Amino acid sequence: MLSISRQSRKFRGCLAPLLSRYLSSSALPEPQTNPEIHFNKLFINNEWHDAVSGKTFATINPSTEEVITELAEADKADVDKAVKAAKDAFRLGSPWRQMDASERGRLLYRLADLIERDRTYLASLETLDNGKPYDVAYDVDLPFVSNVLRYYAGWADKIHGQTIPVDGSFFAYTRREAVGVCGQIIPWNFPLLMQAWKLGPALATGCTIVMKPAEQTPLSALYIGELIKEAGFPPGVVNLLPGYGPTAGKAICTHPDVEKIAFTGSTEVGRIIQESAAGNCKRVTLELGGKSPNIIFKDADLEDAVEKSHFALFFNQGQCCTAGSRNFVEDAIYDEFVERSVERAKQRTVGNPFDPCNEQGPQIDAEQFSKILSLIEAGKSEGAKLKTGGGRAHDKGYFIQPTVFTDVEDNMRIAKEEIFGPVQQIIKFSQLDEIIERANNTEYGLAAGVFTKDLEKALYVAHGIRAGTVWVNTYDEFPPQTPFGGYKESGSGREKGEQALDNYLETKSVVIKMPQKNS
Ligand code: NAD
Ligand code: MG
Repeated sequence: MLSISRQSRKFRGCLAPLLSRYLSSSALPEPQTNPEIHFNKLFINNEWHDAVSGKTFATINPSTEEVITELAEADKADVDKAVKAAKDAFRLGSPWRQMDASERGRLLYRLADLIERDRTYLASLETLDNGKPYDVAYDVDLPFVSNVLRYYAGWADKIHGQTIPVDGSFFAYTRREAVGVCGQIIPWNFPLLMQAWKLGPALATGCTIVMKPAEQTPLSALYIGELIKEAGFPPGVVNLLPGYGPTAGKAICTHPDVEKIAFTGSTEVGRIIQESAAGNCKRVTLELGGKSPNIIFKDADLEDAVEKSHFALFFNQGQCCTAGSRNFVEDAIYDEFVERSVERAKQRTVGNPFDPCNEQGPQIDAEQFSKILSLIEAGKSEGAKLKTGGGRAHDKGYFIQPTVFTDVEDNMRIAKEEIFGPVQQIIKFSQLDEIIERANNTEYGLAAGVFTKDLEKALYVAHGIRAGTVWVNTYDEFPPQTPFGGYKESGSGREKGEQALDNYLETKSVVIKMPQKNS
């Protein structure tokens, strides 16, 4: 039984401050705490298939550590089938290739509408399989998914080349053409949203897709398969293969008929993917890890900076590639920032993600759970001060206490390695001149935050930081219109925005001999 009624948001207490900028004022529909699992097979050619090997694997509910269901497990033979389907769907003269661009856009709009129709079910499924609070899934993930699909729906018939004046008597123009069959490999932290970020631009440009959802969270991705079919996408345009990275994932990356790989996940696997995609010189875009600096100056609105820095780190159980995990705080306000941040972390409620009173659910799996706990131990042994948290929460499920470390030094492991959990590091700084260099002293470069009322200072820092996104007096804003991606080992290429279309387009020049110029 849920402890708080969801009839009115006024009673949802603890979540409201955190998510106030996302929440609408209307009542939230009750979740389906035990949603029916409709699809657990491979989605190829708009049909549901068992794995060629007959193998299955389990997906786990991270709140209970119990198996939700078994799913067909894709491997190389299934990848071969799916790539053939995607290649056939991309053949010249196929329904997809003949379709007007505006019609591709209409199908994407329809898909967004269907996702909105099934929003309660999809949010419930996401909470079950991933562990994120239902309110967050419903109010953040799901609307972000529809928004990004609609953004790319609008692009479908606005992709065009140029006419180019050239020397001599020629008519020259460029065409922007779809790359072809694309492999897309996605992570578990925002299963539906990462899927939408990849589907949107690939479908708007007219590519066909073989996608592998993360093995930890395949359920919502598969349901989207059925909605893709219902929306009217022709068979083979999108194929979805649940399974593991070193088997199904690798087979996608090495397949000679896959022309492009788009990957989101760890830097470690990003490196492997770049190598395995080299065989036929696939185009590769990588959205990888981060260790983002969040810089708080003494002239910042302290209350706002504390709350947003808390959000920057703890949102999504700390499982965000952009997590503001190195909080550099100016010495004059350090002690007060620490005191308020620790107080805020102590208030953070952890438990059953279907209960509207909980801000934080479980970590995704046993592997992440123990990795986070071992980094907490490293923080303690390297001399950082543990101010709150530091251990598991509850006897069952992968729950971890909201944890805050102070007196963190730049060279400690917790200040250098991606923790991907609810563990906040607070570091002191005193000079504007030193802070950019310290913030940039990392192999990552995904995102950064700056809190100050002085816009000149904010811009100085924003332009000096080597990261793909800088937020000023805010954090984790992801409008579909702005490009997102990493510098350095945080990846290459950009998702979202107009720029993401480039990942899925080739440019062709056509040069036509014209009659001699008349004088
Ligand atoms: P991962 O990189 O291992 O997995 C991401 C995806 O890649 C999954 O779908 C996985 O099956 C696939 N994959 C794994 N090995 C592969 C291979 N050899 N070839 C092709 N595909 C392969 O990430 P993880 O293990 O789930 O999480 C570990 C770390 O990744 C986290 O601690 C975090 O640092 C990072 N991570 C980053 C993001 C992000 O948004 N940038 C998201 C999730 C995880
Ligand atoms: Mg892994």
